Amino acid sequence: MFETILFPTDFSDVAEKALGVVKQMKAAGTRKVVVLHVIKKQSLEVIAQYSSIRDFREVELEIEGDARRELGRMERELRDLGFNVSVRIETGFPLNEILRVEAEEGVSAIVIGSHGLSNVKEILLGSVSESVIRKAQGPVLVIKR
Ligand code: ATP
Ligand code: MN
Repeated sequence: MFETILFPTDFSDVAEKALGVVKQMKAAGTRKVVVLHVIKKQSLEVIAQYSSIRDFREVELEIEGDARRELGRMERELRDLGFNVSVRIETGFPLNEILRVEAEEGVSAIVIGSHGLSNVKEILLGSVSESVIRKAQGPVLVIKR
């Protein structure tokens, strides 16, 4: 039932907590983990607008480099535990990319944090996790902050 897990991460503390759960999912029959980070298109536009870097693609490459380092670390940790791991970096709207990867990779379940980088105290669920719960094809395991 949990053969292939999609783990979307924004590198927040809550997502890191969700990674801790993913690491224990051998016991639930998980063999493969797809780790996904989405570079937000809107953030790129804002950075390109206000920084000295005028080239959109240059900003994207810079951010992608940081993401790749973090994802590489997670990939190694999961491989050491015996998972088959695939890492993806996409640019766009997190919800759209998460749903697209869910369909493309034949995912059995998504493990996601209840909150992310914003982590506002009064908010019950982050906007990405809320819309993923609403729109995903398969089961969503939400890890609370
Ligand atoms: P909001 O973004 O609505 O202000 P938030 O940042 O607290 O609130 P979400 O963005 O919904 O909460 O984050 C919830 C979870 O969704 C994260 O723990 C992570 O698993 C996933 N997520 C959020 N943003 C991304 C992203 N850019 N790429 C991959 N996964 C993401
Ligand atoms: Mn967020």
